[in-house]
Amino acid sequence: MFTTLFTHAACLDHDTGLGHPECADRLRAVLAALETEEFYMLERQEAPLATLEQLSRAHPREHIERILALVPEQEHAGIDADTVISPGSGEAALRAAGAVVAAVDAVASGHSRNAFCAVRPPGHHAEHEKAMGFCLFNNAAVGAYHARAAHGLQRVAVMDFDVHHGNGTQDIFQRDPDLLYCSTHQSPLYPGTGDAGEKGDYGNCVNAPLAAMSGSPEFRHAMTHIILPAIDHFKPDLLIISAGFDAHSRDPLAGLHLTDDDFAWATRKLGDLARTHCGARVVSVLEGGYNLRALASATAAHVRELMYC
Ligand SMILES: [Zn+2]
Repeated sequence: MFTTLFTHAACLDHDTGLGHPECADRLRAVLAALETEEFYMLERQEAPLATLEQLSRAHPREHIERILALVPEQEHAGIDADTVISPGSGEAALRAAGAVVAAVDAVASGHSRNAFCAVRPPGHHAEHEKAMGFCLFNNAAVGAYHARAAHGLQRVAVMDFDVHHGNGTQDIFQRDPDLLYCSTHQSPLYPGTGDAGEKGDYGNCVNAPLAAMSGSPEFRHAMTHIILPAIDHFKPDLLIISAGFDAHSRDPLAGLHLTDDDFAWATRKLGDLARTHCGARVVSVLEGGYNLRALASATAAHVRELMYC
């Protein structure tokens, strides 16, 4: 079975304006890194458009329509100070969520062992009824609900190692005991959520905040003693990774000091758990990562592990 890469050229057409860190060059850097010879075994598929029905499992239908109606015919529009959209943003957002839906289909059907979605805009800050933090729709949550609705994969765990807390995924997951949200993130930092005391209504949110300047030892300790045991105990039917690479030491938006090896190690550990509990089914989706060289090398380290784990 393959590792499948889902992406779409429309994700490059989400234009956030000059100087915005969440830029199309991020995706170009990721795709270039995955073009090298060692990745020739990656199966490549175009991301379909997510349907309104698929999105409305994670967001109210009126909210989805409101966001899509904000997409301007020219220039830019602002959802908030950070979250800027352009004429291409609507299709990009639908392809980003659609990639995760298709990736879930691919691993649930047994076509793919696991999948990586190289897409933008990212999704983990998008709450049930609020787009924010560069995110329009919550791609990971749309995938989790699709796994349940289309494939009967009832218990879905999301592990989010983006340097920012995924307030959106936590917001959507916290009232459902069959969904688990786990996060390592720098704290304090945007968006200000993710305290260790935020546990969800059923103990189904597991937050492991890390102080600025934390590096490999602190990250691996939190993974080993908090995150991995929580996923092991939860016994998911599917594991989704919110793969942000902005905890990398070279990232300009935050102050953690992870290396490519840390992302590879975390991927390997998560892959081990997926093999134990869910037939190795892993769907990974790109979130943040703002130093282009670090983003490229860390993504390559992550996907390399997916291919060989
Ligand atoms: Zn981030």
